[in-house]
Amino acid sequence: MIPMSGGYLSPPVFLTDPFGSLDPAPVPGCSTCERKDAKRRKALDEGFVAEAAVIAVEFSRHLVGHRKAK
Ligand SMILES: [Zn+2]
Repeated sequence: MIPMSGGYLSPPVFLTDPFGSLDPAPVPGCSTCERKDAKRRKALDEGFVAEAAVIAVEFSRHLVGHRKAK
C-alpha cells in the first residue's frame, strides 16, 4: 500500500525523463543482468523503445536477485 497524506488525491506519477529509467546498471558478472542488458540495447538500437522500457522494468525487479556466474 502507498501511504496517502491527508486523504488528498496524489497527482499521477509520470516519468519526466522517459529515457532516464532505460539505463539501469547491470551488475558485472551477473548472467541475468548481462542478458537483459544486451536485450535492452538491441531493442533500443532497433527503435523498440517500449520494449526496452519493459526490459528496464524487468531489470529493476531483478536487481534484488543477482546471480554471479562463476
Ligand atoms: Zn543481475
